[in-house]
Amino acid sequence: MQQWRALKARHPDALLLFRVGDFYEMFYDDAVRGAELLQITLTSRNNGSSRAPLAGIPAHALGAYLKRLLAAGVRVAICEQMEDPAQAKGVVRREVVEVLSPGAVLRDGLLDERRPNHLVALAGDPHGGIGYACADLSTGDLTLGVTEAAALADVLARLEPAELLLPADWPEPENVRATITRRAASLFDPAVATSELMRRYGVQSLAGFGLGPGERPAVAAAGALVAYWSELLVGVAPPLRPPRVERPGDVVTLDARTQRNLELVEALAGPDRPSLLRVLDRTRTPMGARTLRRWLLAPLRQRRTLEERLDAVAYFVERDTVRHALQRALAKLPDLERLAVKARTGRATPRDLGAVRDTLARFPEIAAALPADQPAALAAARAALDPLPELHARLAQALVDEPPPHLGEGAVFRPGFDPELDALRQAREDAVDFLARLQERERARTGIPSLKVGFHRVFGYYLEVTRAHRDRVPPDYEHRQTLAQAERFVTPELKAWEAKIVEAEARLATLEQERFQALRAEVAEAASTLLQAADALGRLDAWLALADVAGRYGYTRPYLHDGFGLRIRAGRHPVVERALPPGAFIPNDVELDENRRLAILTGPNMAGKSTVLRMVGTIVLLAQIGSFVPAEEASVGLVDRIFTRVGATDDLAAGQSTFMVEMTETAAILHSATDRSLVLLDEIGRGTATWDGLAVATAVAEHLHDIVRAKTIFATHYHELTRLAERCPGVVLWRVAVREEQDRVVFLHRLEPGAADRAYGIEVARLAGLPAAVVERARALLQELERRGHEPPARRAGGESAVQLSLFPVPPEIDALLDRLRRLEIHQLTPLQALLLLAELSEAARRYRDV
Ligand code: ATP
Repeated sequence: MQQWRALKARHPDALLLFRVGDFYEMFYDDAVRGAELLQITLTSRNNGSSRAPLAGIPAHALGAYLKRLLAAGVRVAICEQMEDPAQAKGVVRREVVEVLSPGAVLRDGLLDERRPNHLVALAGDPHGGIGYACADLSTGDLTLGVTEAAALADVLARLEPAELLLPADWPEPENVRATITRRAASLFDPAVATSELMRRYGVQSLAGFGLGPGERPAVAAAGALVAYWSELLVGVAPPLRPPRVERPGDVVTLDARTQRNLELVEALAGPDRPSLLRVLDRTRTPMGARTLRRWLLAPLRQRRTLEERLDAVAYFVERDTVRHALQRALAKLPDLERLAVKARTGRATPRDLGAVRDTLARFPEIAAALPADQPAALAAARAALDPLPELHARLAQALVDEPPPHLGEGAVFRPGFDPELDALRQAREDAVDFLARLQERERARTGIPSLKVGFHRVFGYYLEVTRAHRDRVPPDYEHRQTLAQAERFVTPELKAWEAKIVEAEARLATLEQERFQALRAEVAEAASTLLQAADALGRLDAWLALADVAGRYGYTRPYLHDGFGLRIRAGRHPVVERALPPGAFIPNDVELDENRRLAILTGPNMAGKSTVLRMVGTIVLLAQIGSFVPAEEASVGLVDRIFTRVGATDDLAAGQSTFMVEMTETAAILHSATDRSLVLLDEIGRGTATWDGLAVATAVAEHLHDIVRAKTIFATHYHELTRLAERCPGVVLWRVAVREEQDRVVFLHRLEPGAADRAYGIEVARLAGLPAAVVERARALLQELERRGHEPPARRAGGESAVQLSLFPVPPEIDALLDRLRRLEIHQLTPLQALLLLAELSEAARRYRDV
């Protein structure tokens, strides 16, 4: 327990897994927490005066438990026994060999290989310019950037951190799912960070990476990240690659909500439903899967880069055979990126090095399938696939065909690779041979036909004689062990050979380890070349996936331009389309330009308004990741941001009302959208009283039209909004068509110019299974309202007063009174007539008090 306390004191914020024999034990608070998280039994152990809570997990199942602990956001310190208990004097020496944290995981089998695992550190001014450093320690990827505090949430949504490293005195950013780790503010010092990074990268200045004075906060964050890493993995240098620096104008900003609304990586209905990524991800390697995910979350704004990607995709769309052959070749590749990092951090196993060898062997075949000059992106990928002939030859010579998963679990090196290893192996085999011959010899000498040579883990080699032959045992046999049916003996000769075997094995193990480490170091030396190749494979795999999707589902290459306009001919929603039978999705045309920049989209419930909105957002996004798009033709003016506002449901738990959430989001859009943005609004204003809602919706639309001038689609049930077209020249009206058949409505899902005339809300209510009596009553009420000429205040009643307005019309008496007032010609009244009228009004007011 003293030992445990000392180790725990050094890792107070980690759950300490303390190795005791075949178990990892947790004590005290760790035990309570661990037992709850892992759903294992909590017991206690007598600890002198008190009883200590205790919970343990079997050592062989460590991986599965670690996975659960990390998923729960827990930091775990693993403590091992550092000596063989059989040989230890006193208490076995123990040490923490590894600390795992959700954002710092290197161990095999714990990470999802199809997505990056990000640790993000923040530094600078929490209310001003915030620097961020985002690293995937399993791949060595490092991205640095600076963002305004207001845009931090968007950056974090894109980076999807598993863990966030913050200075101790910082406020916690809102809505992040990551584990928060805090360290002293002094760890985030820009000057210390600069010299530390220069030392690690072996450079005199960070300017070569594109890091100038403006990036100081980002450098500070990177410094903290490196320091934190060193704290977790003592003695293992962080495998960081040269940083990628992001500038604000590089990527299309997608706030967390838009990322969710467009269902980029996860469907709104839950992780089991198809997302856009699920439709696109036809990658064959982990590198490709991670690359595609990164592209999808960070669409680009530079046309040149996008055209390069599109050229690469187009190349494969046009060449089915090449594409299929390459996808087949990639399917056999391991995660070269993580393998290279494992080599660099001294964790690669014999099997891993075998995998590096086999991967290198495939490079020439893959490179040969790629063009040498055009498209440039493909030529660059081809050039990056350096097959490292020397390293490959070395690995091929050294390693057996199928190296074991770990050292000591079988032969690693080929015979002939190293004479010393061969000699030791020979010595061991000779000794084993000798023992086999010894058995024959002793049988002959003693005349005991069942005599055999055996091996016991504790007692070593022995000669075994069954009871029946006990009296034939010669005098030079020394007795060792008595069993039920037999006895075991040794001879000096046997002992001598045993010593030879043991020694040969020990030396073999040491030498094999030495040789293996040397070989691993050679691979580590080549890590940066391997990582570049891994990047190229990732890109290649992603292009192939996009080409595969484009070919399979009939996407076309978008025409990108820097102008304003957006034109989509026969566009489809890539995800909705997949959920419907082939050909069932009705394609639609969409066109927005400077003179038609705000579309008011009306249509009955269920007609497909949201689908149109999300289709437009998704097609623009696909174009800006360099993908083909689901349309017959698309011309896309590049956007700087995509905003979406569709039904709010998910922030209710955070204590905000539906309408408050809606307005907060709308405010953010009006403040940050530019004339280069794409704004997609679904039913603004419906969360409040009808007239308030309509007023807000109208004012928002006017502001977007007059001031922001962004490309906007505004889907609404407020028929009144369509009147905006009369006074705003840039407003166009779209509606989703339906056809009435007798008393039924058929949804055509077809977009056409104009405004919808009816909501068909009752029809949808009927379809949804509202009781027939309720539907009938609603029909009657609607007819009554329409007969009285009350303009329906809204096509879909939203708040309480809307219900009042529509269901309690003005009583006829008051109506008549109002009518009289309207027709009154005041200047013709005498003072007496005026007084009489006033009395009459006052009396009426009293009479109708309750109306
Ligand atoms: P509400 O006003 O009630 O929110 P909406 O007009 O926004 O409805 P959507 O949610 O977009 O309607 O679409 C309703 C359903 O209609 C979708 O789930 C989809 O299955 C189908 N749908 C929409 N658009 C199309 C289309 N173009 N082709 C085929 N089916 C479509």
